[in-house]
Amino acid sequence: MIDFNIAPHTGNEVKYIQEAIASGKICGDGTFTKKCSQWMKEHFYTNQAFLTTSCTHALEMAAVLSGVKPGDEVILPSYTFVSTADAFVQRGASLVFVDIRPDTMNLDETLIEDAITEKTKAIVPVHYAGVACEMDTIMNIAKRHHLKVVEDAAQGFASYYKGKSLGTIGDFGCLSFHETKNLSMGEGGALFFQNNAYQEKAEILREKGTDRSKFFRGQIDKYTWQDYGSSYLPSDLNAAYLWAQLEMADDIQNDRMATWNFYNEALKPLADKELIEQPFIPKDCIHNAHMYYIKLPNLESRSDFIHYLREHGVMSVFHYIPLHSAPAGKKYGRFFGEDRYTTKESERLVRLPMYYQLSQADKEYVVKTIFDYFNR
Ligand SMILES: *Cc1c(COP(=O)(O)O)cnc(C)c1O
Repeated sequence: MIDFNIAPHTGNEVKYIQEAIASGKICGDGTFTKKCSQWMKEHFYTNQAFLTTSCTHALEMAAVLSGVKPGDEVILPSYTFVSTADAFVQRGASLVFVDIRPDTMNLDETLIEDAITEKTKAIVPVHYAGVACEMDTIMNIAKRHHLKVVEDAAQGFASYYKGKSLGTIGDFGCLSFHETKNLSMGEGGALFFQNNAYQEKAEILREKGTDRSKFFRGQIDKYTWQDYGSSYLPSDLNAAYLWAQLEMADDIQNDRMATWNFYNEALKPLADKELIEQPFIPKDCIHNAHMYYIKLPNLESRSDFIHYLREHGVMSVFHYIPLHSAPAGKKYGRFFGEDRYTTKESERLVRLPMYYQLSQADKEYVVKTIFDYFNR
């Protein structure tokens, strides 16, 4: 059986976790957490990078820091993971789902402006498959309407839009290090922002509402409860795992890219015959090979395809059930305008096995099985 995903493991994870244990400090903001944040600041040119317990939690922090309040509206795609929505629902916001572009599966930037009302507070673009949304347009709309932009860059580690790292373009950027993402720490994420004015608020929010971060820097001699907060800092044990991955980030990314390119090249004849559709990468985007998906003609053919692959030992998966059609989506939001592509395209998409060190033989078997399916 060829798995759909296997959590990345590069070799030094256990060694670094042992080092964390030996240091006698395994709580948050230890040596490895600092190394990881510093790495991201240097590689992604972000002023601020806070390691968090998940991308969901990074989104929650971004929602609080954006000042989203009950009654506010937030614009987001319906084709996304639930966390994109949850973080804003938690603040009492109401969700306004805007349709996606069929080519990238990202928020259709040309539809956003019409969805803005006097209640709109933020736009939340999701960079699906690590392929950037049309950020220049989105930032321009946000600027003219005084809206915050929170990038859901959960899948966007080391992806770029016009040379900028995803997660560093909007007011806030949220990354994920869940085991299904390119780099992992089991559960974890990061919050990026460029405006240093948010630093103190972010530190307090992340540290249970206290100014303990200032205390550790020696800037104050005791810490107290300053504001609303929660606990968004991961254990240094998890950060130690991530550090081993960051050190090998190029290797992980190159390996995934080789798989992505292999699939893309090998499956091209099927796309030429219009049996499938392949991913589209706009020219301003450098992607990170987060996923390889293809599209079948419709829901029925996709189910048949997934079933055939599974029968022949290949795990492929689909996602997402559009949020606006889910019980919570109906309760907390509404779809703006016409659902031309969200439902239709989501029903056609299927993701092929993609993980670090997927073997050449396995990739070839996946492709062969797909050809067999179409040659039956
Ligand atoms: C994975 C993912 C998340 C959630 O990340 P966690 O780290 O598991 O909280 C949010 N949004 C998108 C688009 C994702 O793919």
